[in-house]
Amino acid sequence: MLQQNDDPYPGIALLLAKKTQGKKVELPVQVIPSRFGKAVIATRAIMAGELILQFRGRLYDIDTYKKKVKSHKNYFLQVDRSLFLGPTRSPDNYVNHSCEPNGGLIKLKRNLYLKALRPIEQGEEVTFDYSTSMSEDFWEMDCCCGAPTCRGRIRDFRHLPVELQQKYLQLNAVPSFILENLLNSQNVILSSDDPSIH
Ligand SMILES: [Zn+2]
Repeated sequence: MLQQNDDPYPGIALLLAKKTQGKKVELPVQVIPSRFGKAVIATRAIMAGELILQFRGRLYDIDTYKKKVKSHKNYFLQVDRSLFLGPTRSPDNYVNHSCEPNGGLIKLKRNLYLKALRPIEQGEEVTFDYSTSMSEDFWEMDCCCGAPTCRGRIRDFRHLPVELQQKYLQLNAVPSFILENLLNSQNVILSSDDPSIH
């Protein structure tokens, strides 16, 4: 049974300690071939809230991203209003989308990490919802993730049903730039102080 952990971000201490020691970080995941090309699977049980990996890559502005991104496969990841991480050859590049993901994004300081939204079993594919990193009004993709609630089309966060937006917000899996863009574009009030939002 997985233990309750008081550390709000289990896993980050390990990631940071090894990074500062100049050692290669041993991630709890590996890349394997899959029906979508490649997939990232857990090599051991991962507890809810644990940081799984850090997204890396060269930074591109939005204009360069729009020129480089392919319509059928997107290896870029939006990390700020007009900044995108480019492709890498590490596992962070190959995390597939799911409309019912077991992973979510969290930005700590300037770094973007993938964290477990629930306990993940050894051998299970690790995914996140691409819409939680999208506020670009450009790239979209058809989805055939197979989840019962599959949306069929992956688009910017602002197009998600409000209940799903709130679910991801409550899971703390929405980077702040997505939320800021949402508030700016729609003038909506999403405050935890609002008694109408549970
Ligand atoms: Zn789907």
